[in-house]
Amino acid sequence: MAPTVSYRTLDLAGVGVPVIDLDAAQDGPRLVVLAGVHGCEYAPMAAVRRWARELGDRELRGSVTAVPVLNLSAFRSRTPFVTPDDGKNLNRCFPGNPSGTFTERLADAAFRQLIAGADAVIDVHAGDMVEALEPFALYDAGPAEAGARELATAYGLGYVIRQEPGPDRAVGGTSSAAAATLGIPAIIAEAGGCGLVERAAVETHVRGLNGVLAALGMAGDPPPGGPGRGPTYLRRFLWLRCADEGWWEPAVRPGETVAEGQLLGTVSTLDGGRVLQSITAPAPGVPMFVTSSPAVIADGLLLGLGAE
Ligand SMILES: [Zn+2]
Repeated sequence: MAPTVSYRTLDLAGVGVPVIDLDAAQDGPRLVVLAGVHGCEYAPMAAVRRWARELGDRELRGSVTAVPVLNLSAFRSRTPFVTPDDGKNLNRCFPGNPSGTFTERLADAAFRQLIAGADAVIDVHAGDMVEALEPFALYDAGPAEAGARELATAYGLGYVIRQEPGPDRAVGGTSSAAAATLGIPAIIAEAGGCGLVERAAVETHVRGLNGVLAALGMAGDPPPGGPGRGPTYLRRFLWLRCADEGWWEPAVRPGETVAEGQLLGTVSTLDGGRVLQSITAPAPGVPMFVTSSPAVIADGLLLGLGAE
């Protein structure tokens, strides 16, 4: 039997956020799917809109809560990475703070009202407005990591990165890390980028979400397209930054295999007269994302390298 579908508005830190609930008559896991944590990552938002609509006509067990655009303030203002209200990155603020700044309060509300009651959480992302990206999934070490790894694999992307808490961790305060602290299996799934609604990236996310449904036993049918080859599992995520501001010119593309010491790109003066920094690979790996904009500030993020 098809699930009951309801469209509602959820108050998160004083903002009315559109939410879709799909409730099946048959018991099963409670899956929460978040998109639009970053305001200009459009392919995953488009995928969640379409997937939730299509799911309304399918056999389902359990329930799904889907949020196509969580960070409305960043979406409306087309602000990449951060929320314009306070300049903070929502995916560094989880589990949030109820008496903090706007983004911290939004993280707190989303954590308590969406993430905390879930059996599994999928937070879908892309490269932001100025990032080109190779599709990958990310999960965090912890008590729920076996389940998270299974979800990451089921999403069907080419690379899966496991992050350990500690000083080497590239990103902390994410939705998936906060969920992991509660023992909830959660992943961040990335496909698409550069502020585009690429059809292939939308398809990739829809397939991934269907793969997760199948892995959780919530829908019987296998993900369309069938199982592909398994992902490459990576244990390190190295984020490279520039020392000084300037003009960034990458020498590699996302998904390209690079050797240790290989030139990844240069930062030069805006007049083109002088190379300020040559960035080389600290380890063999694969660039998961590359900043596509030449404009970089001091300590600006250039590239994220997935490594063994
Ligand atoms: Zn993102």
